[in-house]
Amino acid sequence: MKKGLLALLLAAGTFIGCQESTDTPNEQQSKVDMSDFYLFTDQYESKTNSKDDDDKCYSMQELNRQLKENPGLYKKMYNAELHTRKHTAKGKPTGGGGSNGGGGDTDVDVTIVADNLGVVNIPVYIHIVYPNASSISNSQVTSQMSVLNSDFSSTNVNQLPSGTTFANDATDAGFSFTLAGTFRHDDATSSWGTNNSVKSAYPPITPETHLNIWVCNIGGGILGYAQFPGGAASTDGVVLGGDYFGVTSGVYGAGRTATHEVGHYFNLRHIWGDGRCRQDDFVADTPSADSSNGGCPTFPSISCKTADMTMNYMDYTYDACMYMFTDGQRNRMRAIFTSGGARASMAGN
Ligand SMILES: [Zn+2]
Repeated sequence: MKKGLLALLLAAGTFIGCQESTDTPNEQQSKVDMSDFYLFTDQYESKTNSKDDDDKCYSMQELNRQLKENPGLYKKMYNAELHTRKHTAKGKPTGGGGSNGGGGDTDVDVTIVADNLGVVNIPVYIHIVYPNASSISNSQVTSQMSVLNSDFSSTNVNQLPSGTTFANDATDAGFSFTLAGTFRHDDATSSWGTNNSVKSAYPPITPETHLNIWVCNIGGGILGYAQFPGGAASTDGVVLGGDYFGVTSGVYGAGRTATHEVGHYFNLRHIWGDGRCRQDDFVADTPSADSSNGGCPTFPSISCKTADMTMNYMDYTYDACMYMFTDGQRNRMRAIFTSGGARASMAGN
């Protein structure tokens, strides 16, 4: 123990060099670079009545709105990010990219950070809100739970062919999901929009310990939206359009809107950082991308001089064409469940 501490102190001393500092050694060790942190994104504008890929997910626009309306939210999310970066710094990348992300290289490897959490089980409440709530079947509910369980444990049927680019980055994120209850509400409202009104009408149940998912018609071509860690408990959770909930049909019918939105709920950003090449998702082993990818791209899809990770759950590709989280995303998601993290209470911490 003492030897390890001495080594750390020596390493810190070497790194800091001759800079004068009044920080204690522990404070020096915990210094993390927050200079690239941002919350407001380029994606401000609502484009209603569009099926354009840009509108697939509304989580960032909803975040922008909440940041404008709630001045205290920025600080809460900054603190959540600080905690996350302290945790993920233990899995520093090799092969390129900075400690906070900036993964411009295709060939960046991130070490999985040991966190003693084991498989984190997430109990889930599902609120189905439709004029005829029975129109969303129990088999949709069951299949959605199965998709979440397989995608977050990397046991999904779609997988990277071994030996291909990014194959080393695909990971078991270490989460499982258990259905805690399904609630059906017959409600004549035809379209709920993206402003959390469905959550006001049917409030979340114990959001400190449970993931709440609302299934309703959102409208405007939006498939779903999620609240990031750090937001208000009264609006915490994920909203999904019924056409994209569970295994249904069509290009977004494989249940992966939920996987993507739960990724946000676990603090993942979009793979392209919701900006141009200069903005990042704070994950080192996801290459920089200039914008979202839609459809089912043929590899490689190049932007920012490297191949985009179009098969990542946090892009906008078709359900069958997205099938991986990376080691860096795993570290980032799990950080918020460690002691002091924004969702630590869900993991009993
Ligand atoms: Zn999204």
